[in-house]
Amino acid sequence: MAFSPIGKTCSFCGVAGTASTEFAGGLGALMCRACVDRYHEILGSPEKRERVRRPWYQEMDDETALATLPKILATANQVEDYAREWVGVLRDRGLSWSEIGRSMGVSRQAAWQRFSQTKVVH
Ligand SMILES: [Zn+2]
Repeated sequence: MAFSPIGKTCSFCGVAGTASTEFAGGLGALMCRACVDRYHEILGSPEKRERVRRPWYQEMDDETALATLPKILATANQVEDYAREWVGVLRDRGLSWSEIGRSMGVSRQAAWQRFSQTKVVH
């Protein structure tokens, strides 16, 4: 699976990836370098960790809360794209739709219906 940061989105801050964006990632979620640094700093400080435990969204104004929704949906789409790519990897390994469905807890038919159609991935 080739990776390009272009068209990808940080799952933590929503920044859009460019050719020079560095992402850490796994299971479809991505974290930009600025977020890696910010969360590393927070996790390294008990005081900072305590400050971020409060429900941060309660401090958002309505416009900021509304602007957050498309970022959440972009992350959801990104994870779905990753799952689709992963199913491609599984299929390339010769695994059957039955095996893929079993891993998802669904029928062979349900797995096939969800992932058999090709989709342009960024
Ligand atoms: Zn970020």
